[in-house]
Amino acid sequence: MPAKELFPLPDFPRDLPEFERRFGDEAACAVYLRAQRWPQGFRCPACGHDRGWTNHRQAVECGSCGHQVSLTAGTVMHGTRQPLQLWFRAMWWVCTQKTGLSAAGLKRILGLGSMQTAWTWLQKLRQAMVRLEREPLQGRVEVDEAWLAGDRPGKGEGWRTARVAVAVEVDPGDGEMGRIRLLDITRAPDRLMLGFVRQEIFPRALIQTDSWPGFDHLAPEGYRRVRLTDTDDPAHPLPLVRRIVTLVRRWLLGTHQGRVARRHLQGYLDEFVFRFNRRKSPQIGLLFQRLISQGAMVQGRPYRFWAKHEGSGKARPGIR
Ligand SMILES: [Zn+2]
Repeated sequence: MPAKELFPLPDFPRDLPEFERRFGDEAACAVYLRAQRWPQGFRCPACGHDRGWTNHRQAVECGSCGHQVSLTAGTVMHGTRQPLQLWFRAMWWVCTQKTGLSAAGLKRILGLGSMQTAWTWLQKLRQAMVRLEREPLQGRVEVDEAWLAGDRPGKGEGWRTARVAVAVEVDPGDGEMGRIRLLDITRAPDRLMLGFVRQEIFPRALIQTDSWPGFDHLAPEGYRRVRLTDTDDPAHPLPLVRRIVTLVRRWLLGTHQGRVARRHLQGYLDEFVFRFNRRKSPQIGLLFQRLISQGAMVQGRPYRFWAKHEGSGKARPGIR
């Protein structure tokens, strides 16, 4: 049997009309969420029984011992008091908008009560996006660091001060870009760059780099290396890295109007990677399904976590 039939496409809405038809009430969302959360079928965490029914409080109740599992507990929607429908809509719009959504945009589309809620929801969804990016890059990969602001670091404490590691798969045929990875390495550029390569790039890859001697540490681990330039200045990154940095910068300045705190930057980078790596996907609904299925396995962090994340604890993080 061909592999295609062993792994059929999952169940997902094809377009907006189908999405709206399908998820018009809480019960329909609950059915879908349950299927995404237990793709092999429900299994009671208390007794292991495999039958349960979804009750009116959006919990699955074990048919044997009566144990109840909230459908949203332990997911990106953990602790929410908002309807599933609203969350589904948030995930749909985040996946299907070519440039994503700002907190203000999400608030408007969903009619949410506050910017704080909208911003926190986006951060939670970004948590689920990063988990989708586990398969390391391979083949020929351009790796470099760059100032996100361009030729030099910007002032203040926003994203413009960030130094990012960028990895881009290079198509050996036409030199076009494949998948990418991004990491904020401002805190400890050298150490974080090496960790980034180890984590995100398959050891048999051929990495195209600048002249930074730190990359020599990777040779014993199987990475082969080609130097493309004689400098290791983050103001002059390699060409594909430069293109990616330009796109990221435009996205932060456009969709997010430049209002991104450095301490929250990584979430934005994760979202950019999520969307960029699926830019050629013909099925936007498939992104939605992947986000829900991954979001069912990641517990969303509450606003108070983000608010005090890495220090200064501004009242409205990310919306400065
Ligand atoms: Zn049970």
